[in-house]
Amino acid sequence: MAILTILEVPDPRLRRISEPVAEVTDEIRALIADMFETMYDAPGIGLAAAQVDVPIRLLVMDLGDGPEDAEGNPGRNPRVFINPEILDPSEDYSVYNEGCLSVPGQYADVERPAVVRARWLDENGVAHDEVLDSLTATCLQHEMDHLDGILFIDHLSRLKRDMVLKKLEKARREKAGKKAA
Ligand code: ZN
Repeated sequence: MAILTILEVPDPRLRRISEPVAEVTDEIRALIADMFETMYDAPGIGLAAAQVDVPIRLLVMDLGDGPEDAEGNPGRNPRVFINPEILDPSEDYSVYNEGCLSVPGQYADVERPAVVRARWLDENGVAHDEVLDSLTATCLQHEMDHLDGILFIDHLSRLKRDMVLKKLEKARREKAGKKAA
């Protein structure tokens, strides 16, 4: 397993449209293992293959909502979505303060359909068709946007988006300054 480099804005590779996965092979499963390792290390709750420079329709998610371990820590709940599709997005929306590993350290409220029916394949090539809600629905929609070259900041007004990008630039300058000092 390996920790992969996560692309960050304004890398143009984040804007590519990802291709469908033709077959769930061992090579794909090896990439999935690396993506989980990269996501847990970051740490984040979702990661699309496009963010690690592999433009295929694959994403991983772990909301930490699995059964608690012996010490009462939230359990891992790794989920894999290959070639995901959204059907029947609800008319009600929910708002979540989203962040993104490709826009590090920045958060903003994004409104998305609260409930979605989704279809996808898992890491064994098994098809799923489920109704998802709350953070699972939000996270899936955020990650699926990456497959179409869309970032959460694209859902914001131009003013808010510029503010987020300016804050990110400032944080990067401060980090670079600290390294030089
Ligand atoms: Zn993201």
